[in-house]
Amino acid sequence: MRLYEEHARFGRPRHCTGVVSELTASLLPKDAVRVLSKYREMTVLTPAGEIDLVFGEAVVTIDRVWLEKALAEIAASEGAEIITGTRVFPNPQKGGCIAAAEGARTEVASRAGLCGKRAYLVGAQYIIRSRHGPDHPVVAALPSISRDFFGWVVPAGDMEYVLGLADDPRRGSVIDKVLELRKLFTRLWGEHDVVERFGGLIPVCRPCTPVRGRYFGIGDSVCMVKQLSGGGLFAIARAAPLLAKAVAEGADYAALTAPIIRTLHRSWALTKVVRALGGYWSAASIVARAGIRRVVLGRYDLIHEGIMKTLTRNLRPR
Ligand SMILES: Cc1cc2nc3c(=O)[nH]c(=O)nc-3n(C[C@H](O)[C@H](O)[C@H](O)COP(=O)(O)OP(=O)(O)OC[C@H]3O[C@@H](n4cnc5c(N)ncnc54)[C@H](O)[C@@H]3O)c2cc1C
Repeated sequence: MRLYEEHARFGRPRHCTGVVSELTASLLPKDAVRVLSKYREMTVLTPAGEIDLVFGEAVVTIDRVWLEKALAEIAASEGAEIITGTRVFPNPQKGGCIAAAEGARTEVASRAGLCGKRAYLVGAQYIIRSRHGPDHPVVAALPSISRDFFGWVVPAGDMEYVLGLADDPRRGSVIDKVLELRKLFTRLWGEHDVVERFGGLIPVCRPCTPVRGRYFGIGDSVCMVKQLSGGGLFAIARAAPLLAKAVAEGADYAALTAPIIRTLHRSWALTKVVRALGGYWSAASIVARAGIRRVVLGRYDLIHEGIMKTLTRNLRPR
């Protein structure tokens, strides 16, 4: 097996916040997971007030750079030939296959006919260091921070926080909005230092065909993304062993991943409802104005299902 990475180092440049359920983290190789912080709730700031989301399972921030590096080391220790600093568009060799795990830009998967056109949200993040900050993630569903998505402040251990947002690039510069988010942080928790800046793309699309001939897709390349949160690790952690099984034993990858894809479709469906309501800030304001200030949800990974239940229970006409 050959593993290509276009950059010189694994995990850099970084783009992800690293928020996953503890269950999802437990599906990753143990040595590849470094938990930076752990919590069971998130607070959503809306123009109409705050809403607390409480989960029935622990949610963690993991060290994303560590994860990438450790996974590459595991692959090397199991015999993979690692080739860094090389951007490739490979064709399957005789008897071989290609796993497109190339991320949001999806050139290999598109050329193989797995995916069609897609839109993107642009994400921008800062790692900041501060003496004070929230002990659980705070979601900024505020139009000054993001019109089409939301912003976040996530504890990342050792007095560090990931502060970021994503938005439709047609809505203006995300950098200006990150500065707004920094002002919000200063107002709520005080002064802070910027440690690092980075960004990335979140694909906006329905999950694509996961396999065609000898091409297999996984992760952002085939839009295995929970559209409601932009989270991709949920599906990758579950699909990776299935991909290995499909390649090694000829198992039916499409059939194996079908339950994951169904979950992603349901997340996509709720995202469309949120957009129809005017975006996250607008939808969240409707919930806050209805007097809902605390929502007890089930699993973090199935947050779309918990939210749907809450909405149908509380917002139906009486
Ligand atoms: C701002 C932001 C915050 C996020 N936060 C979270 C979060 O909190 N939780 C969560 O679950 N998800 C989060 N995500 C999503 C998550 O980061 C992605 O879903 C996940 O990283 C996708 O993994 P991947 O392996 O498919 O792609 P990537 O992580 O993008 O990896 C693809 C790799 O392939 C390399 N590559 C690409 N093309 C080639 C080529 N032709 N040749 C060689 N190498 C190539 C790239 O350099 C890259 O290293 C976030 C995304 C963004 C942008």
